[in-house]
Amino acid sequence: MLLSLPDFDLASPSSVAEACALLAKQDGEARLFAGGTDLFVKMKHRRATPRHLINIKGIEGLDHISHDETAGLRIGALCTAQAINDSPVISEKFPVLVQAAGLLGTTHIRNLGTIGGNLANASPSAEFAPPLLVLGASVEAAGIERTRSIPIDEFFLGPGKSALAADEMVTEIRVPVPPAGAEAIYLKHGLRRMDVATASAAALLVADGGLIGEARIALGAVAPTPFRAGPAEAMLRGQAIDGAAADGGLLEQAARRAEEQTEPIDDLRGTAEYRRKIIRLLVRQGLDRVLGRLTGEASP
Ligand SMILES: Cc1cc2nc3c(=O)[nH]c(=O)nc-3n(C[C@H](O)[C@H](O)[C@H](O)COP(=O)(O)OP(=O)(O)OC[C@H]3O[C@@H](n4cnc5c(N)ncnc54)[C@H](O)[C@@H]3O)c2cc1C
Repeated sequence: MLLSLPDFDLASPSSVAEACALLAKQDGEARLFAGGTDLFVKMKHRRATPRHLINIKGIEGLDHISHDETAGLRIGALCTAQAINDSPVISEKFPVLVQAAGLLGTTHIRNLGTIGGNLANASPSAEFAPPLLVLGASVEAAGIERTRSIPIDEFFLGPGKSALAADEMVTEIRVPVPPAGAEAIYLKHGLRRMDVATASAAALLVADGGLIGEARIALGAVAPTPFRAGPAEAMLRGQAIDGAAADGGLLEQAARRAEEQTEPIDDLRGTAEYRRKIIRLLVRQGLDRVLGRLTGEASP
């Protein structure tokens, strides 16, 4: 069945200030769109019926990717998943983001869908959320009276709900330089290649001598928001790398601890129980593979 869009009027601002002013003027009745890959699906199914749409694709200066050895990475909100996937500097410095970009939807969706839309949508399964959480990223937001930086672990408030105020939009994602020697991975499980995640996990480990100096684990699609699995991370910090790599017991315990923090739901993509099992496997496998890289016995 061909689904039609509900009626709306359209504005196409040419600046961030203009877009924010339009958002403020419509007082919650307006929605921004970038790629439209998420919003238009919702509108066709009447899960969103905004009366005013604001097309931000024409705003210049929001599709940049820049990197500085001190400040880190800056990704404009309008960067598509494909642009991130194809970026030489992201591939070299932040390959975990390329992994996520390459797993987002189909070629068509990757060419349209933006990182700003992916985060602002605040889906528990947002592809870029777990890797950005382990990288300690921040979301830059602009509103009518201020700009601010929102740490990504404070950005997601619930399914479809972000920390953005009604007049605010995402302008940029900033990713600090990871600690020296950090290795990270992103793993996703979905029913089919193009599907959103049934469960996903990112892990980042840093070697400090022979010990795990820093450990970060982030989970997607197994709770109302993507989140860092703090207690599981704490189990790993300070442990001997060789010991952890040789004896899978610690990794299994950390994976089980991460699983305990989940609050998954039953839906079309899987039951809560299935999600718990999958997340445990993803965390276990992710940690195993990152540790393999730290010990030089790595699979990619
Ligand atoms: C077939 C299909 C497969 C998909 N597969 C995946 C997948 O595997 N993984 C995944 O994570 N997602 C997937 N998606 C969802 C979607 O494509 C992505 O989340 C995409 O990155 C959304 O970006 P967009 O620019 O299209 O967002 P839009 O649809 O334009 O906007 C989404 C939401 O974000 C808001 N928004 C957009 N830009 C901004 C901004 N700069 N500031 C503030 N708010 C903003 C909009 O108002 C809207 O509420 C899929 C969608 C489809 C249709």
